[in-house]
Amino acid sequence: MIKKFFSIKIKRYLSIFFLWLRKTLISVDSISINPIKKPVRKAIKITDYFLTKLFGSNFIEFEVSSACNARCIFCLYPEIVKSGKRLKNMDTETFEKALENIKQTHYSLLSFTPTTGDIFMNKDWFIYVDKIRALKNIKQIFFYSNAILLNEENQDKLIEILKKDKTHKIFALLFSVGGTDRETYNTMFGVDKYDVVKENINNFLKKLQAEDIIVKVGLEFRLPKDTKLDFNKAKLLFNQTDYEFCSIDVLYKYMYNNHIAKLNNLDYMVEVKNPKRACSYLHKTRYAADGGVWADGCMISEMPNDYSLKLGEVSDSIELIEKNRKKIITDWEQENKIPKPCQGCSFYR
Ligand code: SF4
Repeated sequence: MIKKFFSIKIKRYLSIFFLWLRKTLISVDSISINPIKKPVRKAIKITDYFLTKLFGSNFIEFEVSSACNARCIFCLYPEIVKSGKRLKNMDTETFEKALENIKQTHYSLLSFTPTTGDIFMNKDWFIYVDKIRALKNIKQIFFYSNAILLNEENQDKLIEILKKDKTHKIFALLFSVGGTDRETYNTMFGVDKYDVVKENINNFLKKLQAEDIIVKVGLEFRLPKDTKLDFNKAKLLFNQTDYEFCSIDVLYKYMYNNHIAKLNNLDYMVEVKNPKRACSYLHKTRYAADGGVWADGCMISEMPNDYSLKLGEVSDSIELIEKNRKKIITDWEQENKIPKPCQGCSFYR
């Protein structure tokens, strides 16, 4: 317990240091002339790398929409749709309550990554991002999107926010992509949007380049078993402008638990057998689009018709939410009562 406390503290201090370093380097970059820019920009990329590694397990997952425009085969979304859950955009009243709630928490890192859904499904996404960016306690923001709705309008809104973000809180935008050809994309994402995504990402990177904005853009490829990514091809297809803060990564292995049927064309992470210590991700908090507050927020943390990781509602007090979290953790560690989504979970940390 003490070890865990110190590792959280150390990660926090290191993040503060790297955030400060990144801001300083970006300021130096803005007043530097060309030969100096090169090493400074290299140093910014190194700080981005460390900041991503320091995400840890203590942050907020904020879901502005639980509705999605893709049908990824590695996601529980199709099952959740079948269960009859009302998938929706977060409304203003719920958002304002969540904002009040977040102000009282200890979190400093926030991800606009929904458990299911996509940020751009909510047409007010930029208002919510901007308001959360203004919170004093939130120092670092990132998000994932499938980029299907990263159209001209949303690209421009995102650029506008990034330009306003003088303290560089928004430090990473991560886009999930399904391969370097249409067929692989359709297999992984279940919709025919390969060309749209490719065009959206290229156009957005061109705008970042033209505006000379520094933000980490991660292209994260989701691929089926036995498919290797040709990184050069991926770069030529998706980053035609050669935006230097764009990185490419691949996810070859997927998460599952005891209740998810495995697919033959996916490779899976190996599960941890009967862990005694509760998963550290239970310290994350998800603010769901419908006003629910949950522990964790990973892709399988909400199973159809299961509420075992639910901590309460956005109108509940922080004390009640934390009391419920404590109960889930002690039930696991003292009575071996493991919440349904965590049983056999291969993403256990
Ligand atoms: S065990 Fe899996 S489902 Fe449970 S909190 Fe950890 S990552 Fe999420």
